[in-house]
Amino acid sequence: MDCIFCKIINGKIPSNKVYEDELVYAFYDIDQKAPVHILVIPKQHIVSAAYIDDSNAQIVAHMFEVIAKIARELKLNNSFRVVTNAGDSAGQTVPHLHFHLLGGRDFSWPPG
Ligand code: AMP
Ligand code: ZN
Repeated sequence: MDCIFCKIINGKIPSNKVYEDELVYAFYDIDQKAPVHILVIPKQHIVSAAYIDDSNAQIVAHMFEVIAKIARELKLNNSFRVVTNAGDSAGQTVPHLHFHLLGGRDFSWPPG
C-alpha cells in the first residue's frame, strides 16, 4: 500500500522511533510543533478517526494507553495535548490514523 506511515511501520522509510509493540508504533514528527511532538499510529491501516468502529476501537484504546505511558516516560508532568486531524477541513495530510502527542510547552485553546 502506498502509505507513508505504513512504510514507516515496515521500515521502508526511516523514523525516529519512540515505542513499538504488536499493535502500535510511535515516532517523532519530522516537523516538531512543540519541544515534544510524537505521532502515535496503529500498525493496522485505519484512514482516520472517522473510521474508528467496533472492529478497531480496542486498538484505539490501546493507543491512548501508549500515549499515557510515553508521557510518563518523557516526564511531561501529566500535562500534554493529544490531537488528531480527520479529513481535509481539519488539515489531515497523511491518511493513516495518527494521534499527535504534544508537550513541553503551554498550548492555547481553542486551536486555530
Ligand atoms: P496531519 O497533518 O495531522 O495529517 O499530520 C501528519 C504529520 O505527519 C505532520 O505533522 C507531518 O510533519 C508528519 N510527517 C509526515 N511525514 C513524516 C515522516 N516521514 N516522518 C515523521 N513525520 C512525518
Ligand atoms: Zn497506512
